[in-house]
Amino acid sequence: MRVAIIADIHANLAAFRAVLDDVREKGGVDEYWCLGDVVGYGPEPQACIQLLKDIKTTCIVGNHDLGAVGKLDLAYFNPAAATACEWTSRQLTAADTLFLGNLPRTVEKGDFLLVHGSPAAPVLEYVISTSAAQKNFEFFKSSFCFVGHSHLPLAYKEENSRAVPVHLSPDIGLVLQHHRVIVNPGSVGQPRDGDPRASYAIYDSDGHMFRLHRVPYDIRATQDKMMQAGLPLPLIARLEVGK
Ligand code: ZN
Repeated sequence: MRVAIIADIHANLAAFRAVLDDVREKGGVDEYWCLGDVVGYGPEPQACIQLLKDIKTTCIVGNHDLGAVGKLDLAYFNPAAATACEWTSRQLTAADTLFLGNLPRTVEKGDFLLVHGSPAAPVLEYVISTSAAQKNFEFFKSSFCFVGHSHLPLAYKEENSRAVPVHLSPDIGLVLQHHRVIVNPGSVGQPRDGDPRASYAIYDSDGHMFRLHRVPYDIRATQDKMMQAGLPLPLIARLEVGK
């Protein structure tokens, strides 16, 4: 079975479409697993929700999804993110609001746990340090956990009860078999690791191979739509630097 793991689309339709095209070019997948934050920051929340429904994704909820539907206090967001959340709320139909508001916080798929933030705090915690990974290995039972939220492609394996960072790059696959692993596929719609290309991963159960992929997309098209929508300038500028 082949699965595409996508996270933090953030209403960036151009990036989302580029990722789906790339999946098709790579031979397609049997399932899509989405790790939340479908909306927020970006200019096309409704179209991204529709596309997500069209490809029949297993999707969990992210903090921006909850913020946009009034289920997470905007005090949890920085000012630009809160402004984008409020703008997003105004774009959503009642059906979109229901869809986002009803997404689960965690999903188990066989040997994989899917969460947005962390197993310990599924919506809000960032797993971006060895100590956070170490703690979180105690909070799930399955072998592997896919997380989003930080927009950083990162992986930690559990070795002798300790978390150890694992280098992730598009050229090197990660075999998910011998150790428990927490892994983040990076962000489709707002990468923050200095590479502005959309980030996602494909897991192939033949060979237990997890592989990261980076996909160029029309950043300017998304930025133009954000300008037209009047979204905060720092959110527009950061897309081209991937920070
Ligand atoms: Zn996010």
